[in-house]
Amino acid sequence: MNDTKRRRVGIMGGTFDPIHIGHLILAECAYEQFRLDTVLFLPSGNPPHKTDRTDGATDAERLEMVALAIRDNPHFSLDSEEMQRGGYSYTSDTLVSLRKRHPDTDYFFIIGADSLLSFDTWHEPEIICRNCALLAAARDRLPVSAMEEKIGELKKLYGAEIHLLYTPNIDISSTDLRFRRQEGRSLRYYVPDAVLQYIEQKEIYRDPVL
Ligand code: ATP
Ligand code: MG
Repeated sequence: MNDTKRRRVGIMGGTFDPIHIGHLILAECAYEQFRLDTVLFLPSGNPPHKTDRTDGATDAERLEMVALAIRDNPHFSLDSEEMQRGGYSYTSDTLVSLRKRHPDTDYFFIIGADSLLSFDTWHEPEIICRNCALLAAARDRLPVSAMEEKIGELKKLYGAEIHLLYTPNIDISSTDLRFRRQEGRSLRYYVPDAVLQYIEQKEIYRDPVL
C-alpha cells in the first residue's frame, strides 16, 4: 500500500504593496476549495512589469505588512525567497526551486482574473504550467465565460492545469489603496488592523505619485 500522501500547497504571489483583504480572501477560498495543507505568501522581489513604481513601500515594509496580515492564520505562511534573491524574480524560477526542494508537494498557484488574462506574457509560462496548477479567481467583473475561454486557450498552448476558484468579486486593488492614502482617506477595513497601524506609523504611501 502506498501511504505517502502528497502535500498540497497554495502559492499566493504578488507585490503586496500593500497586502489587502482581496489577497487574503482569495488565499482562504483556495485553501478551502482545494483542500490545501497550507498557503505560502510569496512577495515578489522586483517585478519586471512594475519597475516604474515610485510611490510604493520598501521591500522590507512589504514583507512586514504580509507578516502582520497573516500572523493569526495557522495555515498561511510567508516565504521571502523571491525578495532575498534580489533583482527580477520570476515565478518559473521560484517554482522550479520549490519543486526541487519539495518533490513530495503539489503546488497550486493562486491568481486573479487580470493575471489569468496576461498569463501568456509572463516569463516562461510553459515551465510554470509544468510545475503547478493554476487557480484563477474572478476580478474586475470579468464574466466566467471569458475566463473559461482564456483557460481553454492556455490549456491548449501550455498543457496547463487550470481551475476556477469561486470567490466574490472584490473590487479592491493595491493601486487604489495607495491613491486613497495619498488623498488622505482611510484604509480601514480594506487591510487588516495590524497592517493599517503599520502603514500609519511608518507613514507609507503619503507622498504624491510622481
Ligand atoms: P496592484 O494594483 O499594485 O497591481 P493588486 O491589488 O493587483 O496590486 P498584486 O500584488 O498585484 O495586487 O496581486 C497579486 C495577485 O492577487 C494577482 O494574481 C492578482 O490578480 C490577485 N488579486 C489582487 N487583488 C485581487 C482582488 N481584489 N480580486 C482577485 N484577485 C486579486
Ligand atoms: Mg496587480
